[in-house]
Amino acid sequence: MLTATAQRLTNTHLPTPEPEHCPGPESENAGKSDACAGCANKEICESLPKGPDPDLPLINKRLANIHHKVLVLSGKGGVGKSTFTSMLSWALAADPGLEIGAMDLDICGPSLPKMLGCENESIHASNSGWSPVYISDNLGMMSIQFLLPKEDSAIIWRGAKKNGLIKQFLKDVDWGQLDYLVIDTPPGTSDEHLSVTNYMKDAGIDGALIVTTPQEVALLDVRKEIDFCRKAGVKVLGIVENMSGFVCPNCGGESKIFKPTTGGGERLAKEMGLKFLGSVPLDPRIGRSCDSGESFLDLYPDSPACEAILDVVDALRDEIESEN
Ligand code: SF4
Repeated sequence: MLTATAQRLTNTHLPTPEPEHCPGPESENAGKSDACAGCANKEICESLPKGPDPDLPLINKRLANIHHKVLVLSGKGGVGKSTFTSMLSWALAADPGLEIGAMDLDICGPSLPKMLGCENESIHASNSGWSPVYISDNLGMMSIQFLLPKEDSAIIWRGAKKNGLIKQFLKDVDWGQLDYLVIDTPPGTSDEHLSVTNYMKDAGIDGALIVTTPQEVALLDVRKEIDFCRKAGVKVLGIVENMSGFVCPNCGGESKIFKPTTGGGERLAKEMGLKFLGSVPLDPRIGRSCDSGESFLDLYPDSPACEAILDVVDALRDEIESEN
């Protein structure tokens, strides 16, 4: 359920919700696929104009002012992808010479606004589009969280409606000139990933950063994520291993909480011919900083985890900028 303003802002053309496996009301198969049989929207969808998506040129124009676009992916939930995205955003924005945007495409579970300390904000629309919420002078963000009437309102949307919102985020958000747009996605390979890679195909994505934890059960899904990137034509910029050991802040002793039984992210990167960007140890203060919406990097600049994160961000920037 969205706020009344949000509902007016989002394009909800159809009178009834799209069923599961809906091909998308704007697709070539709209009104014709198996999922359309018995759908109350069939007649409307059959009559909608087909052909090249007229919004793609608008998306390309909007994103033309953004120098680098990076997707953050994970095979599995719970590996700290959004946490890492928040720290990547803070780290990039620490350079006052850069303009940074963070886009939260986790439609059903937006957590980036809380981690960046702006979950109670709402968006503003003007003639030039939707304005991002600014966390600092050079760090703006956009999330469905800003469209919800209450922080804990649930989003229960199927594919086509999610796709519509993603398209609007890409087409209507007025970022201005950005050096980096960091795009946080939900775990796995779902509607959100397909939509964003399709809509941004012509505008260009620099690549994807894949976040994992060391144990094989997480790496299994990373292999699928890498396969998705290859099929979708998205370059994998590298793998970062999160929660890679725990350094006790009191005694300094190190323990492996998630054991890398098959060699962890580094071995996987080698096997797949990808760059390993580095490992970030567990630190309970990272979770606390995210809960309070503050930058862990500013609060604990001398911690081993802070050093590791900054090394990963440097390696990522080198990888992106070496291509340009
Ligand atoms: S909403 Fe349209 S495209 Fe989707 S299943 Fe129903 S008829 Fe088909």
